[in-house]
Amino acid sequence: MRVNNANGMANTIARCQTFARRNLTAPTLVRNALPQVCTLCMASAGDALLCVACAEDMPRVIAACPRCALPSPLALTCGRCLARPPAHEATIAAWRYAFPADRLLHAFKYDGRLALAEPLAIALADAVLQRNGPLPDRLIALPLAPSRQRARGFNHAQEIARRVAQRTSVPLVAAMRRVRDSRPQAGLALAARTSNVRNAFVATARLDGLAVAIVDDVMTTGATLSAAATAARAAGARRVEAWVVARTLPPTSRSRSNLSRAGDPLSADDATKAR
Ligand SMILES: [Zn+2]
Ligand SMILES: [Zn+2]
Repeated sequence: MRVNNANGMANTIARCQTFARRNLTAPTLVRNALPQVCTLCMASAGDALLCVACAEDMPRVIAACPRCALPSPLALTCGRCLARPPAHEATIAAWRYAFPADRLLHAFKYDGRLALAEPLAIALADAVLQRNGPLPDRLIALPLAPSRQRARGFNHAQEIARRVAQRTSVPLVAAMRRVRDSRPQAGLALAARTSNVRNAFVATARLDGLAVAIVDDVMTTGATLSAAATAARAAGARRVEAWVVARTLPPTSRSRSNLSRAGDPLSADDATKAR
């Protein structure tokens, strides 16, 4: 969220207070999702779920490492990616995982607000198209383990990916399967996360010579998407990108951006634990 002026900060605080007042329970969210009303500020939103002002005011990563989407001066490849490159060549993230993006993503994924897939996908597709680079040949939604998908009733990544496919005209293919349901990543350090998801994915179709983008809602450490990228590579993909709606910043970056999350009652860590 841009808070480089007093108005921006006032808007941020107003939205925090609106969320706190409404308590964002599932029934409240459903009531607030009536057409033409912005999910975040209740202003008129035409036929969208987010008004133009809220969509423009979402938290963004201004200068990011092209490989992992973490903040990086001059948008150069960061030291971590130089030292230990992830299996994906690039990451595109529409937003930082911060208020109010975290609320939208949580409501979408855990409160069953499937309609929110639309503004999330619009934001991701816009970020992709703004990059103005070559588009991949195929999109792949990060698969859930079958048991987890049955419990949730849908694959959130698939819901986002099929809308992004429509907006970018990149075909979405079912080319990957999750063969191992790892324990939750929350609370694990990067090395533990990496081993936790190693060999969790296999490609179910050949991807020889194709550039593919793997779509998910949030990238935290990148270990899961890197594992999926490894599977795509094993199936012959020549280039793999990770496309996510939001990127969780590491603690050092988050502490630097505390100002932009003033009043945020639920930290990214708390929300990430629910993943
Ligand atoms: Zn709004
Ligand atoms: Zn990086």
